Amino acid sequence: MNNRVNPDLLLNLKDYGAVGAEICFNCGNCTAVCPLTSDEHPFPRNMIRLAQLGLEEKIMQSTDPWLCYYCGDCAQTCPRQAEPGETMMALRRWLTAKYDRSGHGARLYTSEKAVAWTILRLALITLAAFVIYHAVTGFANIPTDHVALNTFAPVMVVWALVLLHGLYLGYRMLSGVANMARYVMAPITAETKVPLRLYLEEFKTFVLHFFTQKRWRDCGEDRSRWFKHLLLVSGYVTMLVLVLGFLWWFQTDNIYPLWHPQRWLGYYATIVLIYAAGEALYGRIQKKDQMHRFSHATDWLFPSFILTGAVTGILVHIFRYVGWPWPTYIIYVIHVMAMIAMLDTEVGIGKWAHLFYRPLAMYLEAVKARIRQEQLEPELAPAGTD
Ligand code: SF4
Ligand code: SF4
Repeated sequence: MNNRVNPDLLLNLKDYGAVGAEICFNCGNCTAVCPLTSDEHPFPRNMIRLAQLGLEEKIMQSTDPWLCYYCGDCAQTCPRQAEPGETMMALRRWLTAKYDRSGHGARLYTSEKAVAWTILRLALITLAAFVIYHAVTGFANIPTDHVALNTFAPVMVVWALVLLHGLYLGYRMLSGVANMARYVMAPITAETKVPLRLYLEEFKTFVLHFFTQKRWRDCGEDRSRWFKHLLLVSGYVTMLVLVLGFLWWFQTDNIYPLWHPQRWLGYYATIVLIYAAGEALYGRIQKKDQMHRFSHATDWLFPSFILTGAVTGILVHIFRYVGWPWPTYIIYVIHVMAMIAMLDTEVGIGKWAHLFYRPLAMYLEAVKARIRQEQLEPELAPAGTD
């Protein structure tokens, strides 16, 4: 990498949601009040300066945008109303698009038409798959005298398609992870070989931050943000595990008793998702909190999808319970259309990308700290490993 200057970087960042970075005069007030900043990571001031100078490769080599959890404290003290927190958010979107080599992420963040077209296209493809399946097997074979969801949408076929889609999305996420690691480690790997041992030993940092998201607790005065975020993650991870790993068990024509895990796991995930998505949408409509004052178009997508998925899931459950075949089937198709569109616009390029990139940033910083430590104190490295 070199330090090529992109004079249009600030302008580009506006498409990603930056609103005042050009009027920042680098006083450093924001960094002074940020609860997550440190001597090595003096954000957001340093990131805004790099953006003003157009040094995009320096930004790509930094983990700082991922170390900010958007409490908004910095915006309160900015004498220029340069909205530093919003620039950090815009940088996270911009970096996500940079890590995604397909260009899909960049299109989604910079064009509302691309977002609308992507959702429509995925919904129509899903609908077409159902129509083609029933055209081949015979529309007359759809049970209409009782609800038989697994005849309308055979669970093993749906599961196989979900897993195929999951493989593609997993590849997209992992290639983004690999690209971020390559950019962040580039200044070090250009000078020294990083032993695999350090990556393996520090992997615990990734696991810790992935599962606890604990830096949310230190971001801002409202400690409930961490808990709410953890609750939201627990909700969609529960649903993801049920769908990816156990769809054959979760999508059934049997109505189980209330105490059965298939029901309470589904209810838990649904309640949590409705609460978290509803609160996020309400906050964005109200615009009272700093983090909700400026909403990029893609910020509305994730909670809207989550709410659509939860409500259609409840309706399928109710219609199945009361024995209405066509309402069950129609709402089920809408549910699948929404979920496919959500996964395609979120995994690896939307909010689900943050879930990986934040702990990855902590992990890579831990590896870098170990390298520095072993360079200063070579006796710490096991003999014969480097
Ligand atoms: S964003 Fe505001 S507080 Fe931060 S350095 Fe710029 S002018 Fe100062
Ligand atoms: S939004 Fe909060 S965590 Fe992010 S830079 Fe500003 S003060 Fe720091």
